[in-house]
Amino acid sequence: MKKSEKLIVGNWKLNPTSKETAKKTFLSIRKKLAKIRKSKVVICPPFPYLSLLQPLVKGKIILGAQNVFWENEGAFTGEVGSKILKNVGVTYVIIGHSERRALGETNEIVNQKIKIALKDGLKVILCVGERERDTHGEYLQFLSSQIKQSLDKVQKKSLENVIVAYEPVWAIGKSDSEAITGASLHEMVLFVKKVVSDVYGYSAGMSMAVLYGGSVSPRNAEDILGKGEVDGLLVGRQSLEPEGFGEILSIAEKL
Ligand code: PEP
Repeated sequence: MKKSEKLIVGNWKLNPTSKETAKKTFLSIRKKLAKIRKSKVVICPPFPYLSLLQPLVKGKIILGAQNVFWENEGAFTGEVGSKILKNVGVTYVIIGHSERRALGETNEIVNQKIKIALKDGLKVILCVGERERDTHGEYLQFLSSQIKQSLDKVQKKSLENVIVAYEPVWAIGKSDSEAITGASLHEMVLFVKKVVSDVYGYSAGMSMAVLYGGSVSPRNAEDILGKGEVDGLLVGRQSLEPEGFGEILSIAEKL
């Protein structure tokens, strides 16, 4: 990713409940992109909407998935594999979101999912983040293990297709005043790059793209993107609001 280029990922989670709203929201966001030059936007809708939205993909809007399974075919009721995702036009996949980890997804599972997604040519958005902060810095150790275990045996050459999304769980789904500050985020971005450097070497670590997620809104996007020195954002609720999402894109454009 070029330094000036930002990746803005919209995670729709389990929304919206109708395909009509999904289409309308996607098209409204696509329209907002007409004036955007510096950002790419990845929209990650629920699985059933992927094929519906794929014909609407144009320009700087791209499709992502919110999850993937660690096998591609077989007796795995209810799962979706990376070959299927690729086949229906998905480019990016979110892996290890805290809401999935809360349902039991471990670093080992996340690692298996990352490996198959990369093998099948998907770009991976690996979510990491501490649940809470302590005064002894144990959360840094937690974060370091999450990153190292999630990337275990992932080849260095594959790292160009991995993006780390730093999403502190305490900041997700909150009011925008509870999100991280840009200055504090900058320290975390450097920490993530340092952890990756420890395993893969300095240049791989420094070139790792890092996104931030957790209650981003038009009110805090400038501080987060500017002072935080991130390569982009993972946006939850605001990605279902084309006006607010469009404002976030305009802020990214001006930086
Ligand atoms: C998310 O789900 O990854 C997220 C960041 O959500 P929100 O923006 O709603 O906090």
